[in-house]
Amino acid sequence: MVKETGFYDMLGVQPNATADELKKAYRKLALKYHPDKNPTEGERFKQISQAYEVLSDSQKREVYDRGGEKAIKEGGSGGGGGGGDFASPMDIFDMFFGGGGRMHRERRGKNVVHQLVVSLEDLYNGATRKLIVQKNAICDKCEGRGGRKGAAEVCVSCHGTGMQVRLHQLGLGMVQQVSSVCHSCQGQGRRVSHKDRCKACGGRKIVRQKKVLEVHIDKGMKDGQKVVFHGEGDQEPGLEPGDIIIVLDQKEHSRFTRQGQDLAMTMELQLVESLCGFQKPVETLDNRTLLITSNPGDLIKPGDKKCVLNEGMPLHRRPFEKGRLIIHFSVVFPQANFLPQGKLKELEAYLPGKVEAEPPESMDDDLYIYADLEDCDFENRKRPSRHYYVEEDDYASAGGVQCQTS
Ligand SMILES: [Zn+2]
Ligand SMILES: [Zn+2]
Repeated sequence: MVKETGFYDMLGVQPNATADELKKAYRKLALKYHPDKNPTEGERFKQISQAYEVLSDSQKREVYDRGGEKAIKEGGSGGGGGGGDFASPMDIFDMFFGGGGRMHRERRGKNVVHQLVVSLEDLYNGATRKLIVQKNAICDKCEGRGGRKGAAEVCVSCHGTGMQVRLHQLGLGMVQQVSSVCHSCQGQGRRVSHKDRCKACGGRKIVRQKKVLEVHIDKGMKDGQKVVFHGEGDQEPGLEPGDIIIVLDQKEHSRFTRQGQDLAMTMELQLVESLCGFQKPVETLDNRTLLITSNPGDLIKPGDKKCVLNEGMPLHRRPFEKGRLIIHFSVVFPQANFLPQGKLKELEAYLPGKVEAEPPESMDDDLYIYADLEDCDFENRKRPSRHYYVEEDDYASAGGVQCQTS
């Protein structure tokens, strides 16, 4: 039992969620609430990030499960002073979606992450999708200078320092000095005067640009896999551009579930098919039809699993190799009274004989008719004094068949 479930609730998962489930939950929510897409949900984005930071670390998760959020804030994870601090939500996001461990992050523009919804068919057959993305690009007209060549002058507001210092009166003659980035030149120290400003970008040096990306979805790619367009992210003067990262998000399929390289499906058989054989078509993800056929004499029990080799998902980069198609069988039994009493005897003659129970030495004469389990739900019923007796040194455990309530 976990002490509290707040972090799990924040990610919308159960407290017994696996690492994969946590990743998937974080992925969806972080993309949805990222400030680029949802500027008013900054607090939510932060909470999602903190919940994931704790739950994705098995040690921190254990501390949280035992002591709740309080234990995390008190720094139960050890490491001395300052424990329990959270990383910045952006760092967690960049680490999660990072386009492949490049150094000097601060010298690069921002990565832009997009989610692309794909079907299981897309991942099976491969597909190409066009995606229109918005990004910041360096202005062509002024080549990122903000105005005509040589028009930049020292900023009058900050005298070229890029910083503004304000004096803040605290009363009683005390003065606090507050410095902040200069608003007039955005901390650059130089600016282009109004009349010389580039018309295309209004002196901002960058413009919003629409870009069409062709995303190639290879056969065998997985839900959550990233397709990275290096250097296609936001541009900023003086910085190396960031990446555009496309994260695949697979829709659930109506018939198949993917289990790694395998595909799993359920097949429903009538009782007669499970006993006497069957032939059933299965439509594959590339629109072929497999005829699933049982051998004469085969018998399928409810819950049986069979597999077809080489009909699962193609492997990424080795698309001619495929996993298995795993078929879980369920068997539909006929309705009660599907046969008249007389015919039932005939059927019985064909089925394997009953196992005759040894009559015990003494037996009550009453007939015991079973009831449906739901009708024996003793927990929710005021029961009159039912008593069990247990003889402690009895060799057999007490009670024979009892109605299990759960
Ligand atoms: Zn300035
Ligand atoms: Zn311009």
